[in-house]
Amino acid sequence: MDISIQKSIETTTTHDVSDGHDVSFPSSSPSPIHTHHKFLVSVEVCLKPSSTARIEDVRLAVERMLEKRSLSYADGPIPVPIDDQFLFENVQRISVCDTDEWVNNHDILLFWQVKPVVHVFQLSEEGPCEELSGDGQLSSFNEWILPAMEFDGMWESLIYESGLKQRLLRYAASALLVTEKGVNPFLVSWNRLILLHGPPGTGKTSLCKALAQKLSIRFNSRYPQCQLIEVNAHSLFSKWFSESGKLVAKLFQKIQEMIEEENNLVFVLIDEVESLAAARKAALSGSEPSDSIRVVNALLTQMDKLKASPNVIILTTSNITAAIDIAFVDRADIKAYVGPPPLQARYEILRSCLQELLRTGIVSNFQDSDHLVLPDYSTLREKLNAPTEAQPVLNFCKQLLEAAEACEGMSGRSLRKLPFLAHGALSNPYGCNASEFLCAMIDTARREHSEL
Ligand code: ADP
Repeated sequence: MDISIQKSIETTTTHDVSDGHDVSFPSSSPSPIHTHHKFLVSVEVCLKPSSTARIEDVRLAVERMLEKRSLSYADGPIPVPIDDQFLFENVQRISVCDTDEWVNNHDILLFWQVKPVVHVFQLSEEGPCEELSGDGQLSSFNEWILPAMEFDGMWESLIYESGLKQRLLRYAASALLVTEKGVNPFLVSWNRLILLHGPPGTGKTSLCKALAQKLSIRFNSRYPQCQLIEVNAHSLFSKWFSESGKLVAKLFQKIQEMIEEENNLVFVLIDEVESLAAARKAALSGSEPSDSIRVVNALLTQMDKLKASPNVIILTTSNITAAIDIAFVDRADIKAYVGPPPLQARYEILRSCLQELLRTGIVSNFQDSDHLVLPDYSTLREKLNAPTEAQPVLNFCKQLLEAAEACEGMSGRSLRKLPFLAHGALSNPYGCNASEFLCAMIDTARREHSEL
């Protein structure tokens, strides 16, 4: 493979929600991390919960191990070497990430082409710390220490048109880097504000959380502590507006305290930002107490203040793709439209569901082999045209593709539920084989689709 591959700057368009114009959002930067003819590939090393090893020691040990091995690089796990006692005792898993940025269609990066960048982390098992709002029922915000156990694997489970996740990750990473290097914000401006918008159930909230988790891992040498605060905008404006004012003040006081510590990286996630605009509009028209406008304004002012801090990233989502009348959203650096998954992503989502049902034995492979691995979409056509796989596997793939085709327009959330619905529709749910299951899934997909 030609190691001098330079990715050209492609541009895709996303819809700018502020004024309806399309804005350009470069889909890839000109090989920002291709140095000295080496491809920088991230290697993520997850420590065992029980490990007390120093991160730096593990990083050095993994780097040494990688130097010794002549392996090719492709996204996925690398086995932890059993002959290295230190690593074996401390490391839960090692995974290679981001190789797909540099290669197409299952090409492989050879070890001498790669400079691995090792990120060692330990997952926090603390779980969310909830803060209750005035009525003691709805929580107004949740707080996680990142990287958190709950979000482990979330990034990999989200499947979009190719490049969307990498693009977001690259942009957010540049933002942190630009800030860290002390670039003058008057000359190069960046607000560290991201808005993901699109129909409900397309994984926007999950993507924000997964992105925060990824960044907390990638930047942990600069920011050893990292938190995610999830603000439930809806609950802030439910009923108790007079209480809401106090809540907003309390929330931002807490955030402010966190970011004063310069080794802290703080992500603030505000879901359904459109509810802020709606609350303001309702207040202006007099149908809501005027308290609400004070709350929205307080929130906006506080958010504006936050942007001055280099160690905060604000993540927002909206289910409305038309204009959102909120000043701060207007200034988002990244506005990405997250739509229903295209065919390739639908196939991959359903494939991952099916693999999980096979793994757990809920669906059985009638050949009785435990290791039925269905080809991914990028090799599917090739496999169907020049069959090297066994006929039953090819038939499964065709059925899976048919199911994916039948799901056009469905959200990621509906797709992830589909296998469950299909399983419930089976006449004999206890002994179902993959082929029967896939037939049920196609039927269910068609039925669900007709109800869209
Ligand atoms: P939104 O914020 O857009 O309403 P969520 O983040 O709440 O969506 O998504 C709900 C769930 O749907 C996710 O946890 C995930 O399981 C599934 N999902 C949605 N979109 C996708 C996708 N593109 N790929 C995989 N799973 C998805």
